[in-house]
Amino acid sequence: MQPLAGESAVVVGSGFGGLSTACYLADAGADVTVLEKNDQLGGRASRLEVDGFTFDMGPSWYLMPDVFERFFGHFDRSPGDYYDLERLDPHYRVFFKGNEGPRPSRRASGLQPRADGDRVDIPADKEASKRIFESYEEGAGEALEAYLDEAEYTYDVGMENFVYEDRSRFRDFVDPSLATHADGLSLVGTMQDHVERYFDHPKLQQIMQYTLVFLGGSPTNTPALYNLMSHVDFNLGVWYPDGGIGSVVDGIVEMGEELGVTYRTGQPVTGIKGRRGGFLVETESEKHLADLVVSNADYAHTEQELLPPEKRGYDADYWESRTYAPSAFLLYLGVEGDVPELAHHTLVFPPDWQGHFDQVFEDPGWPDDPAYYLCVPSKTDDGVAPTGHSALFALVPIAPGLDDSPETREQYRDVVLEDIAEHTGADLRDRIVVEERFSVSEFGERYNSTEGTALGMAHTLGQTAAFRPSHRSKEVDGLYFTGSYTTPGIGVPMCIISGDVTAEMVIDDAEE
Ligand SMILES: Cc1cc2nc3c(=O)[nH]c(=O)nc-3n(C[C@H](O)[C@H](O)[C@H](O)COP(=O)(O)OP(=O)(O)OC[C@H]3O[C@@H](n4cnc5c(N)ncnc54)[C@H](O)[C@@H]3O)c2cc1C
Repeated sequence: MQPLAGESAVVVGSGFGGLSTACYLADAGADVTVLEKNDQLGGRASRLEVDGFTFDMGPSWYLMPDVFERFFGHFDRSPGDYYDLERLDPHYRVFFKGNEGPRPSRRASGLQPRADGDRVDIPADKEASKRIFESYEEGAGEALEAYLDEAEYTYDVGMENFVYEDRSRFRDFVDPSLATHADGLSLVGTMQDHVERYFDHPKLQQIMQYTLVFLGGSPTNTPALYNLMSHVDFNLGVWYPDGGIGSVVDGIVEMGEELGVTYRTGQPVTGIKGRRGGFLVETESEKHLADLVVSNADYAHTEQELLPPEKRGYDADYWESRTYAPSAFLLYLGVEGDVPELAHHTLVFPPDWQGHFDQVFEDPGWPDDPAYYLCVPSKTDDGVAPTGHSALFALVPIAPGLDDSPETREQYRDVVLEDIAEHTGADLRDRIVVEERFSVSEFGERYNSTEGTALGMAHTLGQTAAFRPSHRSKEVDGLYFTGSYTTPGIGVPMCIISGDVTAEMVIDDAEE
């Protein structure tokens, strides 16, 4: 007997959280309709197609392949039924803009430093990574091994104990087995302190901390618990789905169709009324009746704009006092020729690392010396750019809520392109044949994102695990939430898991 047989459910929003929840609910027997505001499915993982170039507009790193296996496996399928995967090697390339810290003693990467900085490729092979680390700092190879052991342990315990569970009590989160281990190390301290315990060299610290960008945090506001991201990065690997992350969206949508999910695009929801067994969900042009509603739209938008005041679980002060993850300044570029200076994934770090994070979190402003990420999927996939061309995008994390007037964007675009030329050697400026920009305003307009955050709520200690907004509405019986605002949090794998957690809650409530 299917637990949700005879129930109808509307899912508002088609990000990974919404798509995942829809599959689980349909599999449990519900009649599921996904209502998406935009003309394509996938949420922040939309695709931009211009003149033969295809860009993933949001996520581009396929991490934690185990989560995708487990997700598709629940439905007796595997990722390979829908898309092909390739492990990238190197995982990524790093350019250091300055000459902070001692110079490397030898060049294990085989790459020559540039006059204005240094660069290193992080390979898929861990032993090779250890040699690179050792070349920067004596003992750092062994330190990396110890760090990754620790990260693996945290990952295993974390996945087992709270990522796939909705822990509602802080006591569970700080379970002694999770909060302290390895000579009393506190996982609720900061990532800055944690990384400093292992590595002195500022460049190695940067490599171990860059993954925090995936969580929308900084080394000083993210708990050490997230050292598990290095297990994700170094051990589980960086993968590329053929066709980009858009192929993963297509795969989950296809599986949803097989399970009976209906998708309606171009349907911005304007209001959610009623309660369990009697919801009315209105879009600009349609009305949908449902027994259950799950919102995958940004939580603050759902609560403040789709629900009447007496039905909101959190007040305006709550949303104003949150720490939002960065927004981004994105340049999608189609360029003539190849870009040999760059890898599929390239990171460019400024020497003043703390200054970069301060301009995002403490003293918001357009970064003077930006840290940024460059993605060139055409290195791996010849289907994303016309012959003889490269598709790439540049992503600069910036503070949410920044004023991004056309003049500012025009100027900043020049700053970024000049910086790329100066610090990576890839001068794209005379070769650009397609250019699109996306920033704070578009995040707000396209996704109803609060303050134009790219990622949602940052994973600060006070916004982690039990401290993220609830999957169950506090005020409306039968209304649930899923996606990056809820647990476990930000990132494609996490949002897929949040769909699992939400659906389990819906099923538990139905069975009560
Ligand atoms: C630039 C960028 C790069 C990223 N890079 C990575 C990466 O490399 N790897 C990784 O794992 N993660 C990455 N992420 C994070 C990841 O993409 C997100 O955490 C995840 O996709 C968010 O999914 P979600 O379920 O929260 O839904 P979202 O993607 O936020 O989707 C919510 C959906 O709700 C819709 N919606 C909003 N309001 C309404 C309404 N009123 N009616 C109907 N629909 C509505 C929106 O249009 C949207 O489609 C990146 C994100 C961005 C923006």
